[in-house]
Amino acid sequence: MNIHSSFLIPHSSLSLYVHVPFCVRKCAYCDFASFPGREADWGRYFDEIMAEIRLWSETTDFGLLSEKYRIKTLFIGGGTPTLVDAGYIEKTIDACRRIAPFEPGAEITAEGNPGTLTPGKLAAYRRAGVNRLSLGAQSFDEGLLRSLGRIHTAGQIGEAVTMAREAGFDNINLDLMYALPGQGMDQWADALDAAIALGVEHLSAYSLIVEPGTPMAARVALGAATVPDDDAVNAMQRQAIARLDAAGYRRYEISNYARPGRECRHNLVYWNRGDYLGLGCAAHSLLGGRRFHNPESLDDYLAGVRRQDEVRLTLRDEMEETLMLSTRTVRGLDLAAWENAYGAPFERRREAAIGRLERGGLIEIGGGHLRLTTRGMEVQDAVVLELLGENE
Ligand code: SF4
Repeated sequence: MNIHSSFLIPHSSLSLYVHVPFCVRKCAYCDFASFPGREADWGRYFDEIMAEIRLWSETTDFGLLSEKYRIKTLFIGGGTPTLVDAGYIEKTIDACRRIAPFEPGAEITAEGNPGTLTPGKLAAYRRAGVNRLSLGAQSFDEGLLRSLGRIHTAGQIGEAVTMAREAGFDNINLDLMYALPGQGMDQWADALDAAIALGVEHLSAYSLIVEPGTPMAARVALGAATVPDDDAVNAMQRQAIARLDAAGYRRYEISNYARPGRECRHNLVYWNRGDYLGLGCAAHSLLGGRRFHNPESLDDYLAGVRRQDEVRLTLRDEMEETLMLSTRTVRGLDLAAWENAYGAPFERRREAAIGRLERGGLIEIGGGHLRLTTRGMEVQDAVVLELLGENE
């Protein structure tokens, strides 16, 4: 909670996510809510976003949000937010102020594709208050970019970073992917080095997940593409940790690395289970202990369908989420905060599991936190299940 001294009213922090579900074309591995070829719906979509913002600025379901909250972070993600006219983004950011005032220095991120940036769009984002840019680079190998179905070249990634610097962005993230079919360890090392050479403040390194129903899954099923086994995937992740650490990027979450002080504040809200409100199709929310989401279908969203599957989390749900999300971070689970929230030490009735995991080199406890080791993070799901199972 932040105390705003001018009013002496305690406000909670709120994060906003706005989904922009439009793309030039579908990447081969993508199962996100993204819809190419729907340019004719851009205007209607942002009209619906405005209507949703209006609704949230008036609703009293959670108390009036403007009285209760200050906006700590805003993330405009997709899809490809940098594809649509910058005016839509400016209008959206401006309208978000109606939900609640922004905290001073709030982090405002726009996600984008290097193939869709222009100096004009970047200047408009800056005017609107965007202070962080997150670019989907994925690879610096032209062959891999083509096989992923990306619309940009390796050269355009560097051009996009240069353009963003010229526009005044001093906080830039690049997303990279590893465990790609046909990607050798050398290619992965080259991608990391190329990203480091661009001098960005933050890097996300995600291993490819072959999602059912994607062209990539069909290629793998037909034997036309082979994905690396778990050992190779782990070796690539360790390569990233070592190379990025040597270049001054600290790993702070399973897939995320930052220069000191440049961690993504928005994503930290997810992992710390802060309140967030998602706007737009497929956007998820956690607000006042309730989870809900908007429809995945663009047409349903355009038809006004909102807030599906709303559930009030039970204490057990909250405990599981807290453990699952906090152990994704290098900081780990705050043991005092756990005891404070749930009324009993985390270790109680988990002594045997904790002992086994410590002896196995998968977790460590120190400085008031339980954290996963590098090896533990490679098998995070299993570690969390073991810790949860002990409490059945
Ligand atoms: S740019 Fe991103 S959201 Fe769009 S199709 Fe590719 S992976 Fe999916």
